[in-house]
Amino acid sequence: MNPRFFEWYVRRVWPLQRLAVRGLARRCRTCLISERCTPLGRDGRCAECARPGSAPAVAAPPADPAAMERRFDDTLARASAGSERYHAALLLSGGKDSAYILHRLRTSHPGLRLLCLTVDNGFMPAATLANCTRAAARTGTDLLVLGAHRARFAETLRAAFLDLRGRGAYGVVDHADGSLIFQLGRQAAAELGIPLVVGGLSWVQLQRIVGLGGDRFAIEEPGGPTQIFPLAVWRTDEQDIRAEVRRLGLLNPGHDSPVATNSELVLPMCVVDLLTLGYCSFEPEFAQLVREGKTDRRLWRGIFEALEHGTRSGRLVADADRALARLGLSVATILGSRSPAGATP
Ligand SMILES: [Zn+2]
Repeated sequence: MNPRFFEWYVRRVWPLQRLAVRGLARRCRTCLISERCTPLGRDGRCAECARPGSAPAVAAPPADPAAMERRFDDTLARASAGSERYHAALLLSGGKDSAYILHRLRTSHPGLRLLCLTVDNGFMPAATLANCTRAAARTGTDLLVLGAHRARFAETLRAAFLDLRGRGAYGVVDHADGSLIFQLGRQAAAELGIPLVVGGLSWVQLQRIVGLGGDRFAIEEPGGPTQIFPLAVWRTDEQDIRAEVRRLGLLNPGHDSPVATNSELVLPMCVVDLLTLGYCSFEPEFAQLVREGKTDRRLWRGIFEALEHGTRSGRLVADADRALARLGLSVATILGSRSPAGATP
């Protein structure tokens, strides 16, 4: 299914169609998490949402946001004083988050010499690569596309799909993809003598993926460039990012939605999850963003429900198979590679 069509369908058709569809998982009425992921109480809410006056358990807020922002600005100011050709490399993905970061850094730190690095894993839709070119051009920033590692990505992603062993694809396949993108970006920055690498992960992703939370926004590694994550500091709402990116024309119109700019492997990941776990392993992250009031609950609930329905009807399984064929895989081969029940979860 064309991703642009899918989002239109979720916004316009699904709200009515869902009323007639039977057997969909119940979802927490406060966030959107599926009952197949976490039990819902009698009041229809998950434990996380039911806890009275609950502070978000996953993404702890910074204790001192102002001090965190000062440290962040100091880090950039120090980098801007360097004599290198580029002070920082921004990993530009073609999605709205990194485009937003690019513009905001160019505006707030005009002396910071930025290089945009785009790692093309071979599963980036053409429109997404075009978004990278546009965002770099609109902000007058150099862009380097690393496209020579597709075979390595294919090998890594194929191995990750075959090693799911009943676990969610988010933590295995998506994580392997993101790690390799980071590793290659960091390596390129190191080779080019660039001291800072800027990543586009949100604060929820940082806590879930790299265990970085509270007042921390940087990862320092001996001998390598320091990695910083501006969204951990700014904590900008998803809708505000999207509106700003649109207002500034940083991405190509019509190709700025998270669904349209995603890797072509996100759909297969969701389909495999739905068939093995009964829910999509991307859900907890979005449930958390909803709890924090940082994303559109209705849109994401619609997306996850439509994915569930389309997987059950088989339509999305056929789409997933088309994407997986490029890895020499199919949904059936991935499901068949599961180890027997009782093996490693
Ligand atoms: Zn909930």
